[in-house]
Amino acid sequence: MLATTPPSSHSDRLVLLVEDEPGISSVLDAYIRRDGLRCATAADGLEGLRLFRTMRPDLVLLDIHLPGMDGLDLLKEIRSEGQTPVIIVTALADDVDKLLGLQLGADDYVVKPFNPAEVVARIRAVLRRTSAQPEQAPIRVGSIEIDEQGHVAMVHLDEGRAVPLPLTLTEFRLLACLAAQPRRCFSRSFLIEHCLPESEALERVIDSHISKLRRKLQIAGQGDLIEAVRGIGYRLWRES
Ligand code: CA
Repeated sequence: MLATTPPSSHSDRLVLLVEDEPGISSVLDAYIRRDGLRCATAADGLEGLRLFRTMRPDLVLLDIHLPGMDGLDLLKEIRSEGQTPVIIVTALADDVDKLLGLQLGADDYVVKPFNPAEVVARIRAVLRRTSAQPEQAPIRVGSIEIDEQGHVAMVHLDEGRAVPLPLTLTEFRLLACLAAQPRRCFSRSFLIEHCLPESEALERVIDSHISKLRRKLQIAGQGDLIEAVRGIGYRLWRES
């Protein structure tokens, strides 16, 4: 279970800028501050990840091509830890189509060269949009409630009590992914890409995680929610 921090008030919104070109970084930093937001800067991906974890910014402005850890890997790390808004910065317009196809969960894209005032306007727009959104409702499947923001899955018992399912991070991601689109069949490669992004796992590794997840669901009295689809992968299936 991962800790979450409450959203900051309007006045102390913090933008984390991850950008390795000092000229661009200092100009953006000045524009962001002039707009009344706070700004922290990192010049490479690893420093960006460190600052993301320690400072918990309200938004990340993320260059794709970075030394250390590139922007896409950093975005995956950020997404594995929650829904912090991310605006991707790239030098290539071509990248945007490719990035959109990857469905990495970025909130907006900016192509270099850009007008810094326009970037700040985009930051404002994304902050408005994401903070205006109501809390994401937990996904409910049978007696199980999956809270992606809180990174916790609860089992509702008959007597009105709810107990947390003791899942590993990977098991939680798998359950949340399957439950987000019940009856959809997910291939093993899709599940690896989305639920074990930091590993070079073989497809069979998914089977092992799924089998442990199924066992925990069974112990929690949730029968066989997850169905194997021969030759393809898995889906979550419950007659309703
Ligand atoms: Ca760069």
